[in-house]
Amino acid sequence: EVITVAELAKRMGEKGADLVKELFNLDMMVTVNQTIDQDTAELLVEQFGHNIQKVSDADVDIDTSEESDPEETLKPRAPVVAVMGHVDHGKTSLLDALRKTSVTKGEAGGITQHIGAYQVTTKDKSRVTFLDTPGHAAFTQMRARGANVTDIVVLVVAADDGIMPQTVEAINHAKAAGVPLIVAINKIDKPEANAQKVRERLLEHEVIVEEMSGDVLDVEVSAKTGAGLDDLVEKIALQAELLELKARPDRDAEATVVEAQLDKGRGPVATVLVKRGTLKRGDTFVVGSQSGKVRALIDDQGKQVKEAGPSMPVEVLGLGGVPNAGDLLTVVENEARAREVAAYRQERDTEKRTALAPTSFDTMFNKSNVVEWPVVVKADVQGSVEAIVHALHNLSNDDIKVRVLNAGVGAITESDVQLAAASKAPIIGFNVRPNPKARDLVKRDGVRMMYHDVIYHVTDEVTKELLGELGPLK
Ligand code: GDP
Repeated sequence: EVITVAELAKRMGEKGADLVKELFNLDMMVTVNQTIDQDTAELLVEQFGHNIQKVSDADVDIDTSEESDPEETLKPRAPVVAVMGHVDHGKTSLLDALRKTSVTKGEAGGITQHIGAYQVTTKDKSRVTFLDTPGHAAFTQMRARGANVTDIVVLVVAADDGIMPQTVEAINHAKAAGVPLIVAINKIDKPEANAQKVRERLLEHEVIVEEMSGDVLDVEVSAKTGAGLDDLVEKIALQAELLELKARPDRDAEATVVEAQLDKGRGPVATVLVKRGTLKRGDTFVVGSQSGKVRALIDDQGKQVKEAGPSMPVEVLGLGGVPNAGDLLTVVENEARAREVAAYRQERDTEKRTALAPTSFDTMFNKSNVVEWPVVVKADVQGSVEAIVHALHNLSNDDIKVRVLNAGVGAITESDVQLAAASKAPIIGFNVRPNPKARDLVKRDGVRMMYHDVIYHVTDEVTKELLGELGPLK
């Protein structure tokens, strides 16, 4: 436990300089920006006649998302599916069509409510949850906030149009998130549809479907005629089985916010997906830095329900304010506790914002202990893209591996920045700059940018990064 002198002074309501002076009297030469250990801090607090109030994070924080439930309490849960693909390839149509099949099969008269996610039931009674905001923006934003709700990505590719830029982006986003893909080759009702060509062209992006002797599931569908939709849902269920998705239903709920807004009549409303446990009417909870009490739960058919279990999307009423997509909702024992945690989080969030910018990337350790160093590459011409990617791969060795999340020609776009932010990767811009929208995102998300116009400058900078990442050489 360490704290900077400045921070301690702020908490004590004293001047930093006075603390430095006192420390000097204690034979410690430190400046306000340096850190001191807990014992020294306590000593100072006493010297200034203040009381020591120890509130450790563990006392107040209830972020239990890392703690796991015992194996015997786990039950299978529905997969959560995101639909991605190029614009106009039929993402929205597919989501609508899938939803209709379930509504007509289910209770008659169910009103479709767009709450951000819905669930369908397959013929053999297994369930699939679809996030119904298509595209990778929502997916990546949630991931950037640390919420990995998506278990499977359905990649929609129009059979008459083939692989397009956003198809490739979607592939990269899914790969970066480590989420398996299922390819839905759409619009097969069209005379000019060529599904085989789609399968072949996917090879170039290392998506190898079964027919090409790979293990990626693919289905030919038509959102227009409904052909292949049952098959698609079945393949999703099959993929889900392979993933062995499980959660404990009989505990206090933890859920992720997928959508939230201020509703004129109903106040703040959030759609959440339950991660584990069962969310019930009357539960007291904390979401982000807001507290609340479940006043009502409304399902994707617009019906009030008493409770929601794992993977079930529900609208929650009774929030103290509007949370952010990706926030975690956690049920706590009582309102006093909820307020305490909410207040703690508010303070922590402010501190986080004023703290120094985070390091530009996280290291990811895989099983063989190789450190992966993710990066996004954009350049003005294809030749440069290839040369840079090649040079970067040559920098990989037994200890560290450069992982190019996306490489392409053109200005740095919002999508590039979202991808980089979600993976805490830097962006290399070779003779290119971000467009205005992307520039705002770079600032907001603190994405590290490396601008160069000479290739060996790129490799020089990256080499330095890699050495820093591995720490002092042994
Ligand atoms: P999105 O941008 O990916 O969400 O695509 P949309 O769902 O908005 O679809 C774009 C266009 O393609 C619309 O005019 C749809 O009617 C049409 N479309 C979508 N799926 C099919 C399909 O399976 N067959 C045909 N013929 N048209 C489709």
